[in-house]
Formats: sequence, C-alpha cells, structure tokens
Amino acid sequence: KKEARKESGPAPSKQPSQPAVFIHVDRLPEMQEARLRLPVLAEEQVIMEAVKENSFVVLCGETGSGKTTQVPQFLYEAGYASGIIGVTEPRRVAAVSMSHRVAKEMNLSTSLVSYQIRYEGNVTADTKIKFMTDGVLLKEIQKDFLLQRYSVIIIDEAHERSVYTDILIGLLSRIVPLRNKKGLPMKLIVMSATLRVEDFTENRKLFPVPPPVIKVEARQFPVSVHFNKRTPLEDYSGEVFHKTCKIHRMLPPGGILVFLTGQAEVHSVCRRLRRAFPFRRGREVAEAPTDTAEEMRRFKKVKLKKTVSLPRIDLDNYSALPVDEGDEDRQAGIDEEEGSDLELGDPPADDEEKADPSLPLYVLPLYSLLSPEQQAKVFRPPPPGTRLCVVATNVAETSLTIPGIKYVVDCGRVKKRFYDRVTGVSSFKVTWTSQASANQRAGRAGRTEPGHCYRLYSSAVFGDFSLFSEAEITRRPVEDLVLQMKDLNIDKVVNFPFPTPPSTEALVAAEQLLVSLGALEEVKEMERARLSCPISPLGRAMASFPVAPRYAKMLALGKQQDCLPYVIAVVAAMTVREIFEDLDRPAATEDESSTLAQRRARLTQMRRLWAGQGASLLLGDLMVLLGAVGACEFAGCTPKFCEENGLRYKAMLEIRRLRGQLTNAVNSVCPEVGVFVDSKMAPPTESQVVCLRQIVLAGLGDHLARRVQQEELLDPKWRNGYKTPLLDEPVYIHPSSALFKTLPPFVVYQEVLETTKMYMKGVSAVEPEWVPQILTRYCHFGSPLEVPSPWFCPSTGRIKCHCTSTFFRCGWQLPAVEM
Ligand code: ADP
Ligand code: MG
Repeated sequence: KKEARKESGPAPSKQPSQPAVFIHVDRLPEMQEARLRLPVLAEEQVIMEAVKENSFVVLCGETGSGKTTQVPQFLYEAGYASGIIGVTEPRRVAAVSMSHRVAKEMNLSTSLVSYQIRYEGNVTADTKIKFMTDGVLLKEIQKDFLLQRYSVIIIDEAHERSVYTDILIGLLSRIVPLRNKKGLPMKLIVMSATLRVEDFTENRKLFPVPPPVIKVEARQFPVSVHFNKRTPLEDYSGEVFHKTCKIHRMLPPGGILVFLTGQAEVHSVCRRLRRAFPFRRGREVAEAPTDTAEEMRRFKKVKLKKTVSLPRIDLDNYSALPVDEGDEDRQAGIDEEEGSDLELGDPPADDEEKADPSLPLYVLPLYSLLSPEQQAKVFRPPPPGTRLCVVATNVAETSLTIPGIKYVVDCGRVKKRFYDRVTGVSSFKVTWTSQASANQRAGRAGRTEPGHCYRLYSSAVFGDFSLFSEAEITRRPVEDLVLQMKDLNIDKVVNFPFPTPPSTEALVAAEQLLVSLGALEEVKEMERARLSCPISPLGRAMASFPVAPRYAKMLALGKQQDCLPYVIAVVAAMTVREIFEDLDRPAATEDESSTLAQRRARLTQMRRLWAGQGASLLLGDLMVLLGAVGACEFAGCTPKFCEENGLRYKAMLEIRRLRGQLTNAVNSVCPEVGVFVDSKMAPPTESQVVCLRQIVLAGLGDHLARRVQQEELLDPKWRNGYKTPLLDEPVYIHPSSALFKTLPPFVVYQEVLETTKMYMKGVSAVEPEWVPQILTRYCHFGSPLEVPSPWFCPSTGRIKCHCTSTFFRCGWQLPAVEM
C-alpha cells in the first residue's frame, strides 16, 4: 500500500477529493435492512481505506454481492461527492436500472443520483452519483481530458472486457496521475465479477505499481448443475421452452431465469410460455413494444426523388455528413440486440404445450433495450399465486441480479460481435459461451436458497468451452479500433496502454489503410511510421458507421445521385459471406455427376443474368448482389423464391436485417438524407451504376488489380491473370464471377480466395482514368510517357500513374494527356 501511494506522485498539500465530512444518508428502514444483508457491506471499511490510500483500486466480487449498488453509496457517505461520482456500465440497461435503485436506496431524488445513456438521461447540475454507459464517458473525455467534474470514476463490469471499458481503463491510468499532479486528486475503482483481473493488475504499462485487489466473499448457496444428455444444435429455444414448462409443472416454488441470446428469441419464448400457462391481470403481461415498429415509422418518413445527372462522384461530398455531437454511446459491442431481430416464426402447432390456466406463470422478458418500466418489473415480487419466470439475454448474467431465482435454464450460447478478417465487416453470431460465463449463469440460482441450473448441453460440450471469454479487442480488426481511437483524438495508438494490446504490425497496417482511405490526415512518412496521424473530417463521419472503414467510406460517399439505398444494400450483402447456394453442393440427392455439372451451369448462368448487360454488367459481382437483394425483397424474401433462384434463405434474411441497421446508422449521422429501406427498390439507372462503381473503387482501393497485357506474357501462367500491388503471383477472376468472361483491364475485388488458383471474388470493373482521381492517396505520379496507364510499383506496392487533368486535389500540376 505504501508503494501504491508513492506511485500517485508527491502528495499534494490539499486533497479536494479526500473525504471532508461524513455525509448522512437518511435511508428507509427496510432499505437499510436489505443492504445489511449484502456481503459487500462487511468490507466497507477495507474498501474505503484502500480507496483513501490509493489512486487505483480493484474490487472483485460475485454478482449480487452489492458492488454496483453499494460502492457509490460508500463513497458518497465518506464525502467523495465533492465532484461527481461516475460509474460506467457496458450496458444501457444496467446504467438506467442501477441509478434508479441507488436513488431509492439512498432516499434521494433522481436529480442527485442520475443516469446518462446515449439517447436519454436525467443528469442535473446537482447530480452527485452518475451512472452512464462506457461510451458516454469516452465522449466526455474527448471534451475534457482531465474529467474535472468527477472526483471518482468506477469502471463496473470490467470482466466483460468490452473494447470501450478496456480503452477507458487505459485512458484513466494516465488521467488519474495527471489529476494528482495538478492537485486535483481523483480515484479509479475497477470492479469485476471474476477474480481474473491480472490483465489489469499485472500490466506494468497500465499500472506501474500493482493496485490493491479487494475480494468480496459472497454468500452463495449450493447450486446443483444438471447437464443434458444430448446437445440440441438447431432448435435450442424450443428446448429451452420445453425445459421451462417441465420445471414449472413439476418443481417446487421458486423463480425461473432463462438465458437466451437475443431479443427475438426472448420474445418468441415468452409468447410460447404465456400461451402454455395463461395468466391475465390487467395489462401487466402485455408484451413490450418492439422497436421494429418504431424503425419502420422512421423509414417511411421521407421518399427519395429520382434524378439523373453527370456520372462522376465527388470525393469531397462526404462533408455533408456532420459529425454527430450527440453520438455519445457508440458501444454497440455487447448490446446483444444489435445483431438480432429476425422475427422468429412461431413453431408448428404440434410442438406446443397444452394451455394450462391452472398453473399461472408470470413471464417477463429482459434485455438491454427494454423500457425502464418493463425492466423494473423483474425486481418486484410476482402476483400472488404465480411463479416468476424471467426470459433474459446475457444482461442477467452479471449486470442485473433478479431476486428469488431458484432455477436457471441455460441455453449455453451467447450472441457476439464478430469481424470477418477478410471482409472486415462486423456481424453478430451465436456461439457457445465460456465456462466462466456458464458458471456465472448457474450462480444466479443460488442467491437466496439452494438452487438448480439446467444446462441444455452435455457435460462434454461444456468441457470444450473456452475457460474465459477473450477480450473483445483481440477479436476486432484494428483499423476499425484505430479509427475509433483517433476519433477520441488519441493520435499515437501504439503508445496506448491497452489492457490486452493488439500487435504492432496490425496497428501499422491499420494506420496505413486509414490514411489511404482519407480517414486520417496525410502526414510525412515519418509520422506515419510512428503511427501518429490525426483524424480527418471524413474519418469522423466514417467512425460513426458500424462497419469496417472500407465500407464506411462507401457509405460516407453514398449519398451522391441517390445511390445511398444501393450502397447500403451492397455493403449489407458484402457482409454476408455467401449469399448463393454452394455451386458444388449436389442438389437434393447425390445424383450422377452430370446433374452436378448441370446445376453448376444453371446457377452460374443465373448469376450472369443478375449482373445484367452493358453498364450494370461492369459493376460485376456487386451488381449481382444488388440484383439478388432487390429481386428477393421484391418477392417478399420467401424461402420458395430463394430456393428457386439459388439463394441462401438465411443469408437473405441476414442482409435484410443489416440493411435496416445501416439505414438507421446513416439516418442518425445525417438525418436530412432520410434514407429508408425500400422493399420495392428500382434497379439503379446507368449513371447510378457508374457512380456505384466509383464509390466501390473508393472503398476497395487497396484491392485494385490490373489485367496483364499481351506483351507482358513472359510466363503462360499469367494468361488471363491479374497483377495486384501486394501479391507476386497472378490472381484470376473466379469462374463464378459475372466478369469471368469479360476480363476488364482493371478491377477491384472484395477478397482473394486460394483454391486451385488464387481467385478474386466480389469483382467489379474500374475505368483506369478513375484511378488517379479517386485513389489519389494510393498513387505515385509520373509523366504520361513514363506511365501510360496506372501501374503497380514493385518497390513501394503503390500505384504509379499520371493525372488526366491539369489540376488536382493533391495539388500536383501535370500536363493534361488523353488516355
Ligand atoms: P453486484 O454489482 O455485486 O452484482 P448489485 O449491487 O447489482 O450487485 O446488487 C445487489 C443486490 O441489490 C442484489 O441482491 C439485487 O437483487 C438487488 N437489487 C439491485 N437492483 C434492484 C432493484 N432495482 N430492485 C430490487 N433489488 C435490486
Ligand atoms: Mg454489478
């Protein structure tokens, strides 16, 4: 402890954040009584002493031990509320619910104990304790790096390892000593539900002296864990439903907590349970409104008008996208709802339980975006004569503790954000959870008495789970992260004290790509090598889209010539790895090989048809994607249409969801664009196709390929081959591509896939004269004689070319020459 004190610098003579007076809190007796039962109360003195003597303190304790609700109260009572006591939560639902709870426990108004999440809050000038999402605090740091209004920051749920929480801890490890030096002491308390805190405490870059770790022993009753014999792979929510029915029918009283992965599943299971065990009393069990309806209302707001004009995009046109000042909560990371929300169809009737009104079940959904009133219901006792059943997402794992739970039903899965390393686009997938998480879930059953946890998977499957969930930062592509940090004005990303750092190579590559995309200001090579380029206005707009930077650039440019709906559809479709039925998969039965060949030919032919002719053909595979999305949506996106046209139904549904999500993002960054999801989207006009090709080139510029000319054919292997800046070997247009027979002189591709050869997939044709204009930052310029058409420089990997006009944005003056 002595060492820890030294680390915070020479002790300033006056310490404003030091407890001045003990503040009396006038709690209601029943609240006081409930508090006294919480394990964290026994440690109050130890905690407060550690906080007094150290700038950084780590607090570990089981979920439900009282960390979130009590520690802010300890600090308040001990006089730390000279500034604001700030508490960050990775989830909105926790920030709102905890602020209400603490206000109630302290018998204070919500103008003193308040919350702030992205869209709303009740913070006033008098606020003493402020609960907020981690994204909100990050934005505040952008405005006031020293966070001078705060006396203490509590980072809650640090075990979740959300990217923003990680970055906040990194930032605060610097901010706190700075504050101490200035004589404005500040405290940082990191709270975690697991004991695995070495990534923070043993990281010398983060904390030169390990901070004290205080453990809170929770009173926990034994929980018997029951594994399934088999593991349902497909319909696990059906299994969850049946298990819950069985518990309700056969087992003694006690609340049931069900873990599912997303909002749509939660609603579907709630509906089925309510049907099986009807219970009506007023409107209490009425379903919460889903936000889909809200979204649809927004989409319908504005109609686009069609115009046809000059076919050239304006690279500076992104400036119309303002940086959203109010965009304070960019944490999409673990909001499980972001990824969900295909309306789950109800199961066939024979799968239903018979309705049994004699056993009323009080069914409540719980997920992040539920309204606060709906959320609050889970904390209230169920109506007399009923059993409480909460159907929740991961939010009930550690963020919220629901009283009276005796049975836990765990589907074993979790919805996580993933990034495709090839396409760089994020998506949400349902995967197995970790052992640590599964144990957390089980622990929810033993809060008030011995309980039971039903795991709907086998013990062998559990044995294969990873021990802990890995830090989100290691699953993220770093160009995205680097852009986010630059948006916070952290220019030197390499020096940043990440709790778990990404590799330097990854950071360098990310910085280079971002400079090329124009998201970072262009600076000298030296600066670039030191990874310290500042963000540009375009970068700020890009940072607000939930896709990787290449695609964000396309969205930022997309509003020209009313192309935005198309750009959104293409970007959404590019996110889904394969929208077509596998060419090589035998149709229904394993017939003779001629059938396979025929099927292949038929599917390939179909793709060509979608690509169209003339102008639209040159958009290539991206036109195919656009055509498939347009046609499928026009037909109502039915399984039948997909089957008949060689599309994967699941992929098409996913694209539909993503289109909605991206449309919302664009509208919230730039409301005047007023784009909406049109299920009857007309095909793009010829000039729009040209515009789209240029927008795609601007995003995929580092994936440019040039067809090898006849005179270069030194080696026959280069026949029909393409040269790319990064690969020595030829790459070829994939036979399934719409441009396989066209072989345009220049193309951009989405990915290179190595099978028998290196094949480009997602190919779109490029006009060479666009290259110097649209990819200025990728180019070295030479004289037109030296460089008759864009070329790749083998030493730098950059594109060599000359300009076609006399004056350019790069400021270079070159002779005008027709190409
Ligand atoms: P931790 O942060 O350690 O997980 P909390 O401080 O969230 O623990 O919870 C402590 C206790 O307070 C739990 O028993 C929980 O049930 C109770 N609690 C939290 N919020 C509410 C609420 N809104 N209504 C009733 N009880 C609540
Ligand atoms: Mg908590």
